[in-house]
Formats: sequence, structure tokens, C-alpha cells
Amino acid sequence: IEALNTAPDATEVRFEEQIRPQRMGDFAGQKKLTDNLKVFITAARKRDEALDHVLLSGPPGLGKTTLAHIIASEMGGGIKITSGPLIDKPGNLAGLLTSMKKGDILFIDEIHRLAPAVEEYLYSAMEDYRIDILLDSGPASRAVQLRLEPFTLVGATTRAGLLTSPLRARFGINNRLDYYTPEILQGIVVRAAGILNIGVDEDAAMEIARRSRGTPRIANRLLRRARDFAQVAGDASISLAVARRTLESLEIDEGGLDDMDKKILEAIVRKFNGGPVGVASLAVSVGEEQDTIEEVYEPYLIQMGYLSRTPRGRVATRLAMQRFSHPGISAEGP
Ligand code: ATP
Repeated sequence: IEALNTAPDATEVRFEEQIRPQRMGDFAGQKKLTDNLKVFITAARKRDEALDHVLLSGPPGLGKTTLAHIIASEMGGGIKITSGPLIDKPGNLAGLLTSMKKGDILFIDEIHRLAPAVEEYLYSAMEDYRIDILLDSGPASRAVQLRLEPFTLVGATTRAGLLTSPLRARFGINNRLDYYTPEILQGIVVRAAGILNIGVDEDAAMEIARRSRGTPRIANRLLRRARDFAQVAGDASISLAVARRTLESLEIDEGGLDDMDKKILEAIVRKFNGGPVGVASLAVSVGEEQDTIEEVYEPYLIQMGYLSRTPRGRVATRLAMQRFSHPGISAEGP
């Protein structure tokens, strides 16, 4: 069974680029966030200034990278894309920053994983558009100050709580992306199908939307899989029956829970008697990384009312106890 929550591979990245919304008007949902951003962007443009630094947090696949691209195009600037773990030396950061032109966007994904030494260089860059770098080491070393063009840092993170407070304080705009409603996701599926020339019935798009864990990336993945099923069946478009068959084959249940979601809940309910259980033991029990459980799986299970976090560990809710206490029931849905 294909894991639906994994990071995209090269083929999928190309596919995502094809359907990625280019302007704010094409970006569905997250209304409050986009309304605010529109105001800040318009104001910055009127003043002919760089936009304040923007922090975007939330689970993977909700549109952080997409929004960074949109901000760049709405500001009329370029964008450079990197990620926290990739900038391993202050020198790499200095190289990036000095190549930025006025109004450009520097997008740093996984910004909570920046090396502390690199992060410190960011502070003055963000605050005063300058960096002080140390040339040479030992007695011959000297500090050189480099002036930067006014730029905007867009930082993305799945774990806002792991950001240090000095870094967090330097973002003027701080936003969290929420899971999408089925109605909004339905619109996203229909739009992507249109771009890719895939026929999809309204009710089929809704079925895919309802079972996508509130996540556009997953909705688009399921759309591609459903296209395969339709094609093999010789159907010109994706009907509700084909959508359902696709979801069944991928073992995604009525509530949109995938294989790992179910494994996690089953483990808490059956092996740990409903909890509380520490996330480290849970991770070993289901064979998944602790970080992935915390960043990808838990937020959705909490939102759907299956799981709660307590100081003593994770606890299954009554809803989870009802659904997962008997072997075999989980696969049939509620
Ligand atoms: P990650 O942190 O894992 O990179 P992300 O939050 O940056 O994830 P994106 O790469 O921006 O997610 O989005 C994944 C795909 O979902 C994109 O290809 C885009 O087409 C689609 N998408 C995301 N948000 C929206 C939206 N609001 N409207 C339409 N499509 C969207």
C-alpha cells in the first residue's frame, strides 16, 4: 500500500508544479490568512518596501511552498528556495543573501532545523539587512560587514513550537495553515483535473476530497490514482464508483484515515489500553519516526477527535476506543 503522507518524489514534484496556483486568486481556502497577506502585500508595494518577513507553519502539503511562490509573484520579485538542513555553514547563507535583489523572497523550508550558528547570522540580516562575517580565523581574523538589499524571508515549518524565540520574534507576519474543508478540497480537485485534462464527476471529486486528510497534496495524489483506475477500466472520466474503488484499493477508510493513522490508533487502543503512552514508545510500536508521528499524523488525528495529548502521553478518545477496540472493525469504517 502506498503511503499517502510521504514527501513527494521527483515525478510528483513536476506534477505539483503543473497544477500549483500562481496567483493569490487561485489559492483556495485559508481565507483569513490570504486576506491579511493581500493587505500587507498591497501596503508594502505602495510604500515601495520589501514585505515583512513571513512565517508559515502547519502540517506538510497544505500549501506553504505554494504561498511563498505566490507572495513572490504578487510582490513582483524573484524567489530563492532552500531548506534549513541544506544551509550547513554561515558562508552558504551569506552567499544566498548577498545574491538577493531588492524585494526578492528567500524561502527557507524546515526553518526550525537551521544550525544555531547559521541562525544567528540571520538575525541581523532580517533586522537591519546586513551581515557581519568573520574572515579567516585566529589572530588574523577580521569582521567584515556586508549590506544586503531589502528582502523578505519566508520561513516554513511543520513545528512552530521548535523555533527559537529570537528567530520567531523577527517575523512580522506569523501564520498557521489549517486543514482544508471537503468543500474547498473538492474545488481544488476539480481545478487540478481541469488543468490536467482529466474528467471527474462532481460527486467523485467530493468523495476524494472527503478522504484526503484535509490536505491538497493528498487530494491531488488521489486524483492521479483515480485517473489510473478510470483509464484501466476504459472510462473517459472518474465516476463516483471509480473514486470509491480507488480509495478502497488504497485502504483509505470513510473518515480519510490511512494505513498509518489506523496503525497508530490501534496501537494506542489495543497495545496500550487507550493510553497514556509516550510518543517514543508509540513510534517504536508502529515502526515510524517519532518526528513524523508528531508532525504529520497526530495533528490530523487530534483535529478529527481521535486522539488527545496530555502531559503524561497520548490518549485515545472515546471515538477511537469505540472504533478500534475490536480487531477487524477499523477497516470497515464508522
Ligand atoms: P511541504 O511543507 O511538504 O513542502 P507545502 O505545505 O509546502 O508542503 P505545497 O507544496 O505548497 O505544500 O502544496 C502541495 C500541492 O498542493 C501543490 O502542488 C499545490 O498544487 C497544492 N495546493 C496546496 N495548497 C493549495 C491551495 N490552497 N489551492 C490549490 N492547490 C493547493
